[in-house]
Amino acid sequence: MAKIPYRFYLSEDQMPKQWYNLRADMKEQPDPLLNPGTLKPIKEEELYPIFCKELAHQEMDCKTRYFDIPEEIQEMYKIYRPSPLIRAYNLEKELGTPAKIYYKFEGNNTSGSHKLNSAIAQAYYAKKQGLTSLTTETGAGQWGTALSEACAYFNIPLTVYMVKCSFEQKPYRKAVMQTFDADVIPSPSDTTEVGRKILAENPGTTGSLGCAISEAVEKATTTEGCRYVLGSVLNQVLLHQSIIGLEAKKAMEILGEYPDVVVGCAGGGSNLGGLIAPFMRDKIVDGNKVRIVAVEPASCPSFTRGKYAYDFCDTGKVTPMAKMYTLGSSFIPSANHAGGLRYHGMSPILSKLYHDGLMEAVSYEQTKVFEAAKLFARVETILPAPESSHAIKGAIDEALKCKKTGEEKTILFGLTGTGYFDMSAYSAFHEGRMNDYIPTDEELQASFDKLPKVEL
Ligand SMILES: *Cc1c(COP(=O)(O)O)cnc(C)c1O
Repeated sequence: MAKIPYRFYLSEDQMPKQWYNLRADMKEQPDPLLNPGTLKPIKEEELYPIFCKELAHQEMDCKTRYFDIPEEIQEMYKIYRPSPLIRAYNLEKELGTPAKIYYKFEGNNTSGSHKLNSAIAQAYYAKKQGLTSLTTETGAGQWGTALSEACAYFNIPLTVYMVKCSFEQKPYRKAVMQTFDADVIPSPSDTTEVGRKILAENPGTTGSLGCAISEAVEKATTTEGCRYVLGSVLNQVLLHQSIIGLEAKKAMEILGEYPDVVVGCAGGGSNLGGLIAPFMRDKIVDGNKVRIVAVEPASCPSFTRGKYAYDFCDTGKVTPMAKMYTLGSSFIPSANHAGGLRYHGMSPILSKLYHDGLMEAVSYEQTKVFEAAKLFARVETILPAPESSHAIKGAIDEALKCKKTGEEKTILFGLTGTGYFDMSAYSAFHEGRMNDYIPTDEELQASFDKLPKVEL
């Protein structure tokens, strides 16, 4: 066979026309979402005030194996997809490994990450239902940017509550969102009851994700035709992100390849869940031996040190409760943690798979992650997002294992995005100001002690 190219793109007609719902092939389902008021499993209709109907349906449907991707969504996907499958020849050479390393690069769009894949779907279904506005929160700004892009395309007004310290530290993120006509409000703000209350109690506060969520939810529930949307963790988001794995698998098939190991970074689990979906299917249905490895920060180690328990999906305790690996919704990563992936919980689907022994997880300290990012940037010429660099580090370690044993394994990892808005983190690394903080068992226990008590 001819030499495999550096970059491989599916043709437009080879692009997936359906998303894959991994739950349909799981032997056991994740535990149901609970209504935080009644502690009873949530019914689809109860989600309608929060999510638009089609998305509520996707959230609850664990039987339908494939969902058609609506024509309009396929059209927008074609503007920036397929994303390339890249053979990391240079990285292989640099490491001196006999392993073959591939990565799926999702950073080739203005939002700079995979988040656009789900933002488009969520904006589309909202428009189709006749909703007149959307609202969300954003911390670092990737999700807010992706959703702004999608809402501009489908012409839906969007309000983004951006954590005040990010709003002040990342003015360029705000400028991108404003380019796409989003109304970006630093949170806490005086535009909501909850925001005014927090400001009155603590005028100097720089905000938190929990507070921004509470503001966004209040805005959604008090505004006619408005809904709140989330960029990760939820089943519907993993469904939309399956486009990553489906494209990757098809491209590898065409190249005559199949991975022995699939590696991805894990924050709330959406890119990882999407990347691994078709490979996990092969593992569950066909008994395939593919290994799946989740990589997380040592400073926010939900899989490797969290508890498998019911918890709130948000710090504001307003969203449904999910059974997942969690550090507790009151857990806040150390202030010097700059590597992203700071969510306290994990997708219920991935949590169940991990609990059932179908996947592995590792954690790394952030300085190790930035070392891997720098090495990768030098040889592969892409400036990776700190989040994505966790997967790079995981893939490098798998490749170095192969160097020891001489095994010619095929490694696939997800490169979720670019790091152009994370230059202050890169600066901290270059200038030796970045240090590693690993929470103590006592700190984690203090947070576990505040987990909601749920008996089913
Ligand atoms: C948001 C983000 C992540 C983490 O989110 P998941 O839902 O775990 O995928 C990873 N990489 C990038 C570039 C991101 O923006």
